[in-house]
Amino acid sequence: METKRAPATAPDPTHPKPLLGRVAIVTGGSRGIGSSIARELAASGATVVVNYIRGSEAAAGVVAQIEAAGGSAGTEAGDVSNYEQVGEMFGRIKERYGRLDVLVNNAGILRDRTYKKMSITDWHEVIDTNLGSVMNCCHLAVPMLLDNGWGRIINISSFVGQMGNFGQANYSAAKAGILGFTKTLAIELARFNITVNAVCPGFVETEMWKSVPENIQEKILERIPMHRVAKPEEIARGVRFFAIEGDYMTGQSLNINGGIYMGW
Ligand code: NDP
Repeated sequence: METKRAPATAPDPTHPKPLLGRVAIVTGGSRGIGSSIARELAASGATVVVNYIRGSEAAAGVVAQIEAAGGSAGTEAGDVSNYEQVGEMFGRIKERYGRLDVLVNNAGILRDRTYKKMSITDWHEVIDTNLGSVMNCCHLAVPMLLDNGWGRIINISSFVGQMGNFGQANYSAAKAGILGFTKTLAIELARFNITVNAVCPGFVETEMWKSVPENIQEKILERIPMHRVAKPEEIARGVRFFAIEGDYMTGQSLNINGGIYMGW
């Protein structure tokens, strides 16, 4: 399925489907924030590749929702922490769609433990999945974006990468790493019409949030000035902004966090 050629120019944000003719991949698009991002980009006209690792049914469900709304999407299994699997996945994307315009690095996991209890396995799993995946996917995607003369990379970091968080030494290191990586890639790729930005969510109502014990959830809500967690769609709208409207923005972080972190 080769998509129609899109011009090597930025999409027109006033167009009802500004991403028509362009292809986007959302890693970890099968549920939570990723599935909202997939739906949001598809609603803007992009053909969306929904990546997942285990949730084939959930990923197929996201594709069905997108198609029912008149959009276009497909699924791609692949462990984004594994460079070989990512290589095979991007090979299939090239063959199937012929192009790639937008990469959203969203896949992530938690292995929360206080530092004293954190094992080396807890460390490596989180670093490889949450940070290594960003390198893996960018490494394979950038040549395809360069082919287009236009591209958008949007990395999902976290406020935890900006301020740290109890029990999350591995996660905060990975998310902070994403921010440094984002800035450097932004500097190197700007001349090629490729922007690289990060979205830093606060707490978001997904399975990741539901896995937090209720007494801890209550304590967290007390720390959020807006006194609620975000809806996944609120994060997806930030991603849409970088993909479609943020032409003169690169190397930036967009904080969508209810005020829990206000640094800049
Ligand atoms: P979920 O746990 O709801 O979903 C995680 C997604 O990542 C799933 O689609 C899962 O696929 C996929 N995934 C996990 N490991 C891999 C892998 N190795 N290869 C490919 N896909 C993988 O997460 P959220 O939606 O809550 O989080 C999404 C992103 O947002 C993460 O990067 C997270 O760190 C970040 N974030 C989340 C916050 C929150 O409060 N929820 C706050 C701040 C940031 P499958 O279904 O196949 O398992």
